[in-house]
Amino acid sequence: MDIKQNLQHIKERITTICQEKKRNPEDVKIIAVTKYVSTETAIQAVSAGVQHIGENRPEGLATKYEALPEGITWHFIGSLQTRKVKEILPFVDCIHSLDRASLAKEIQKRADRVIDCMVQVNVSGEESKHGISPQELLSFIESMKEYPSIRIVGLMTMAPFTDDQNLLHTVFASMKTLQQEVQDKQFSFAPCTELSMGMSNDYEIAVQEGATFVRIGTSLVGKEF
Ligand SMILES: *Cc1c(COP(=O)(O)O)cnc(C)c1O
Repeated sequence: MDIKQNLQHIKERITTICQEKKRNPEDVKIIAVTKYVSTETAIQAVSAGVQHIGENRPEGLATKYEALPEGITWHFIGSLQTRKVKEILPFVDCIHSLDRASLAKEIQKRADRVIDCMVQVNVSGEESKHGISPQELLSFIESMKEYPSIRIVGLMTMAPFTDDQNLLHTVFASMKTLQQEVQDKQFSFAPCTELSMGMSNDYEIAVQEGATFVRIGTSLVGKEF
């Protein structure tokens, strides 16, 4: 795995797409998802220039946080059990998987600062996927006013695992529409400037449709286990 070369390639793809779409490439940040790789490989990713790391398990987050240099932005991207909230709060800069009121309540209870969160949305309606339905999104976000330690910085989704490019465009485009609807509300606690969407196999489509964070594991750092 030549992480530096992979990163270069992904950055070039993002830059090209942004030029086509008249977007600023700097508005698209790359999160290296290190859940399938060792701490050593995560360190290599940082040496290659990665600034954002994503983990989907509290243990992985804690282990890599201890070993990696300062200055990294840490993202929790996995489904989060309520009882694990206190374990991750010391390490995390952004939680991408806020998907229920009980989780918000626990974050509020444990937080010693304002925590940046994204609301996970289940656009495709797949039962296997976590997330708030599009219909419930606005009322869920409005209810976040009860939790002063939570700032809704954006929305996150996982697209269905499919080769159907049209479907992927539709899913990501509806996220962009939902983001606009949240922004139109002008809630002070929900600036919602970010869209976390796109993984190894679909990040190019996500960037075309407005992603500001792509979460890339396999095609950036590989898969060791
Ligand atoms: C594993 C994972 C990714 C990265 O997946 P790849 O296909 O390896 O790029 C992105 N987002 C979430 C939520 C994940 O769990």
